[in-house]
Amino acid sequence: MAKVLIVEDDATIRTGVLKALAGRGHVVVPAATALEGLRLAVAEAPDVVLLDLGLPDLDGREALRMLRAVSQVPVIVVTARRTEGEMVRALDAGADDYVVKPYGAEQIDARIRAVLRRSAPPDPPSTVVEADGVRIDPRARTATLDGAPLELTPREFDLLHYLAARAGAVVSKRELLTEVWQVPYSAADKTVDVHLSWLRRKLGETALEPRRLHTVRRVGVRFGRLP
Ligand code: CA
Repeated sequence: MAKVLIVEDDATIRTGVLKALAGRGHVVVPAATALEGLRLAVAEAPDVVLLDLGLPDLDGREALRMLRAVSQVPVIVVTARRTEGEMVRALDAGADDYVVKPYGAEQIDARIRAVLRRSAPPDPPSTVVEADGVRIDPRARTATLDGAPLELTPREFDLLHYLAARAGAVVSKRELLTEVWQVPYSAADKTVDVHLSWLRRKLGETALEPRRLHTVRRVGVRFGRLP
């Protein structure tokens, strides 16, 4: 059970999600505007925030930045816009995850549980991973590339850590969703692709000219050059 703040201006969606999540045992706090959501994020101290990016009073990413200024609460952004750029910008602005409308109660509940598991990790493995110029310290949650610090979101860090710890092996999208995101696999889910493209940018490479993150078509992704 979690306390969930839902910031959504569409009353039908807001009420529907509220009922669905309440039915699954969550305490739900609704807000119809970004400013109301920001106020409640402080006053109610929710465990997780569902933030619609299309709000009437503030641009969604602006709302996210303002929220990040006052709280480190996990945020799942909700967008109707099926563009990778929109999601990537939201993740860059500090979101922990995203869902695309329309979404079902089961999906949103799984995402909430996954985000909460990650925000309270049990005992992080402490072994430092070094592969192909990348060094990851899971205990300090720091990563460097050729000695220079990498500025990674929590999810990018987990993704890079997972792949680099298995350098040379092909990891499937299914495995990444199950192990890194801890959500059920869906072929239509673009979560992994979006995060991989963002991670690529931070590693200074592209899908067309990969150096460390190699897409293995129809199979998955491999960290590191082939031996
Ligand atoms: Ca909206």
